[in-house]
Amino acid sequence: MAGEPQADCLFCKIVAGDVPATVVRETDNVVAFRDINPQAPTHVLVIPKVHYPDAASLALAEPALAAELLREAGEVAAQEKTVEPGYRIVFNTGPGAGQTVFHAHAHLLGGRGLEWPPG
Ligand code: 5GP
Repeated sequence: MAGEPQADCLFCKIVAGDVPATVVRETDNVVAFRDINPQAPTHVLVIPKVHYPDAASLALAEPALAAELLREAGEVAAQEKTVEPGYRIVFNTGPGAGQTVFHAHAHLLGGRGLEWPPG
């Protein structure tokens, strides 16, 4: 069920502390940790502690939490000193867009020049 921890979900396991991660920021509802395969000098995943399969389903069910996720991504960007010259927040949604973990997460990317359009 949406919102409930999923036994087979990697990010639910990270939230539970069953899989280690390098956490850079945590609130009651959101946790941010470094991506294991960084694509930029700053590559942090910002996730809700509750399980939703993607960002849109999170926003539909819990809009305040979706807003908190974005705010926290901005806070991590400031913490990582990547606000200048800029950073990118990405929500890959669906396998065709590169989503591999079906627990909503924002990629915060920064610390290098970022091309547009992305690949
Ligand atoms: P997606 O491909 O779903 O948009 O993003 C999933 C991200 O999770 C990928 O960037 C991948 O490198 C990262 N990832 C996969 N397994 C782990 C892990 O065990 N620990 C951490 N910190 N990141 C992971």
